[in-house]
Amino acid sequence: MKRWFGWGSAQTDYPLPETARGYLEDWLGPLPTLPPADLESTLAGVPVSELPHHSLIHTEPETRLRHARGQSLPDWVALSHNRVNTFPDGVAFPESTEELSPLLAFAQEQGAVVIPYGGGTSVVGHINPLPDSGPNLTISLEKLDQLTKLDEYSHLAEFEAGVTGPALEAALEPYGYTLGHFPQSFEYSTLGGWIASRSSGQQSYYYGRIEDLFAGGEVETPRGKLVLPTFPASAAGPDLREWVLGSEGRLGVIAKAQVRIRPRPQKEGFYGVFFPSWESGSDALRTLTQSGIPVSMLRLSNPLETETTLILSGKSWIDLADRGLRLIGQGDQRCLLIFGVTGSPQLTALARRRTRAICRSFGGVFVGEIVGRTWEKSRFYSPYLRNTLWEAGVAVDTLETALPWAQVSEASRAIPGSISSAIEQFDEKALVMTHLSHVYQDGASIYTTFLFRRTADPDQLLERWGAMKKAASQEIQAFGGTISHQHGVGVDHKTYLPAEKGSLGMEAIRSAAGTFDPDGILNPGKLFD
Ligand SMILES: Cc1cc2nc3c(=O)[nH]c(=O)nc-3n(C[C@H](O)[C@H](O)[C@H](O)COP(=O)(O)OP(=O)(O)OC[C@H]3O[C@@H](n4cnc5c(N)ncnc54)[C@H](O)[C@@H]3O)c2cc1C
Repeated sequence: MKRWFGWGSAQTDYPLPETARGYLEDWLGPLPTLPPADLESTLAGVPVSELPHHSLIHTEPETRLRHARGQSLPDWVALSHNRVNTFPDGVAFPESTEELSPLLAFAQEQGAVVIPYGGGTSVVGHINPLPDSGPNLTISLEKLDQLTKLDEYSHLAEFEAGVTGPALEAALEPYGYTLGHFPQSFEYSTLGGWIASRSSGQQSYYYGRIEDLFAGGEVETPRGKLVLPTFPASAAGPDLREWVLGSEGRLGVIAKAQVRIRPRPQKEGFYGVFFPSWESGSDALRTLTQSGIPVSMLRLSNPLETETTLILSGKSWIDLADRGLRLIGQGDQRCLLIFGVTGSPQLTALARRRTRAICRSFGGVFVGEIVGRTWEKSRFYSPYLRNTLWEAGVAVDTLETALPWAQVSEASRAIPGSISSAIEQFDEKALVMTHLSHVYQDGASIYTTFLFRRTADPDQLLERWGAMKKAASQEIQAFGGTISHQHGVGVDHKTYLPAEKGSLGMEAIRSAAGTFDPDGILNPGKLFD
């Protein structure tokens, strides 16, 4: 059963290793003990639904609460402190894509707002009903999860858009295929959500981002069905898929999507390399990507993320490896790279060999498969640590951008620096760490995680979080970086979008939404006002 508050299944826990508490208290100060979130009292706050009865719409308080918030830090604060002040008035669970159009028509008749809902894993407020928006109807795609077509000859598969990562891969596996889209939220996020928020998987370097994998599909809009035919490529004017990618539920409900699939790889391996410094590691990554070496994944942690990862993983062999590295002269500035190779035995052997050689030329020490295997095993499990930390009195959030290589080095210091400075005004400290992932020939995504102490007062907590988020977002924009490489815009990044798109660009986005949804019933207040 999925937790009503926090990440993931209620049956899965990520216990905090013994050494971790002391480490966190050294950084942040004594951790507070706070009462747990309480389902009963939160349910008591769910108001009477404003929607009339409809056979496809559920209005029980618990269903509405479970679809009221996503996974952003303000969402966690609202749920954990009984501060949820807006709920969907009903949640529809269509069982066939034909039911989407009547549901949109019903919402329109009722003057209701429609929020398309995939897995609810948004970290930027995408699926939250907003105050004063009238009745809200959330349409969950949960039951639309079938593989509807498979063209093995062309390596194309069509799915209903509510399919989650594991269900999608399980449907392809018997035929020997994979989509290869593995965001860390893989367990719960959906194909429709990936498209609507321009998601990026951990091995996007090999398989491509969702915009490379999304080949066509059907979108149900208030003005009818938008059909996006699948072509290998087309020069027939602007590509309408681009309107749907990143549309964040404002253009229509993605009902079905055709995706480009690949044969399951014959071989896959993940390996660790320690670099003596951040500069040597990031130079190696740039060289690797610009030399076109066919790795499938690269993730370089800065010194603090390297140290914190080693401590929070609580593995004794890591201690041993750590001592070994110190013996060969790698000290506190060492940075861990995890790299992956995927494909045929010949290709993976070549990629591994060439990657090792380039890393070595930048002072990297190859430490074999154990670190990589540990990362692989916990790649979808580590979000559960956020639950444990929250219970231990620590709030965690992440933010990300992408920048050209020429800015990467400076920005990857300045962004964490801006977060640390912002929290100092409250006489508090944050543990701020960064990694590079999703590397490209021309640049990389800088992904920053920050941990800070929770407080009993939710307003105080939000004030601190808001100050750090704002400082980092402004720093990102000062470097000319995008406000989001993979999380999307939602509510939390909305104010930063005009600087990126320009006023003409924003007008074009608004008018496209207006074409498909002239009455503005679809997810208003997200992406733009
Ligand atoms: C622990 C954790 C790790 C994460 N890791 C990654 C990562 O590695 N890479 C990454 O890209 N993201 C990541 N995310 C962010 C999030 O998972 C992605 O944004 C994901 O694509 C959202 O998918 P979803 O199905 O949960 O969509 P939801 O959260 O349900 O919705 C997101 C947006 O898409 C719209 N939407 C959803 N389905 C449809 C549909 N069928 N039609 C129209 N609009 C729709 C919604 O209206 C909303 O605006 C992570 C989040 C968490 C909590």
